Amino acid sequence: MNSKSILNSIDSAAANLYVDLFGEHNGLSTFLFHGVSHNEKLTESIFPQEGLTISLFEKFIDSFLNLGYEFIGPADIIDGIIKHDVKYGMLTFDDGYFNNTWIQEVLHKYRTPAVFFVTTGLMMENEKIWSDVIHFERKKRNSPDDEIHKEIVSLNPVPVAKIKDYITKEFGSKALQPHGDEDRFLTPAELKEFALDPFVIIGNHTHSHEVLGNLPAEKTKAEIETSQSILTEIIGKAPDFISYPYGSHSRQVVDTAKEFGFKLGITTIQKKNSLPLGNKYNMELRRFNPIASNGKFKIDKLRSSFQLKTMLKEILQ
Ligand SMILES: [Zn+2]
Repeated sequence: MNSKSILNSIDSAAANLYVDLFGEHNGLSTFLFHGVSHNEKLTESIFPQEGLTISLFEKFIDSFLNLGYEFIGPADIIDGIIKHDVKYGMLTFDDGYFNNTWIQEVLHKYRTPAVFFVTTGLMMENEKIWSDVIHFERKKRNSPDDEIHKEIVSLNPVPVAKIKDYITKEFGSKALQPHGDEDRFLTPAELKEFALDPFVIIGNHTHSHEVLGNLPAEKTKAEIETSQSILTEIIGKAPDFISYPYGSHSRQVVDTAKEFGFKLGITTIQKKNSLPLGNKYNMELRRFNPIASNGKFKIDKLRSSFQLKTMLKEILQ
């Protein structure tokens, strides 16, 4: 057992003990997903990052409802109709994949809203996100997960145009093209129709999916502004919520987002949100990113989120 797995097992033991003794905290757990597939085989071969299938997503919602959770949308948080003695969940999907429309039936069945953060540039160009391409291509070549992660982290500071050149050189000119409905983005017409669903809430995920923390203020502003104007044109109103690509949210990024009047900004810090949120956390909402493989959520892949580990261990293993 290496030191990391020892720490992991201490963490889970502490988590189990804590929940046994004190029960689970109330508050808001926000969950981040990206793509969803019809079956595990497709997930593993085309969209391996999170391993989410439609049936696993349904199981996820059903299990949390059975634990007494109530799923809410961002407007419920802003309007302050939330109570402090309830466990809330909020579902979010980043990037704007067409496959997100496949979960509409599940959302209707459970009367559960979800927020979909769309990257408008990807939608217009229908080009895959560079980090997804690296993940997919390396996985196909059997690279270990931690090496894939290291490569993505090392490329993070590089401008997207340069990373695209690297991808083309490394994996060929078609690597950035989606395979089909499994991994393509929504078209503007599809987004327009999707947004009409009362359980679908559309949010801003910038125009080019750059790491905003790397950009000068002017560029951050342009990234948000372009996306906001395209989304307004398509769905008929300006989104009130933003998810920062890769969770990158420096002080300057948050301040720029505030200037646009967003009411919620969402990060990828894997923690639960205490309620009431307060002004600071409105623009830095924390969010868990559950990862599944072969029809089960992988507990050991979650970083510093012992409460969620315990919840998922109880209900999904
Ligand atoms: Zn994203």
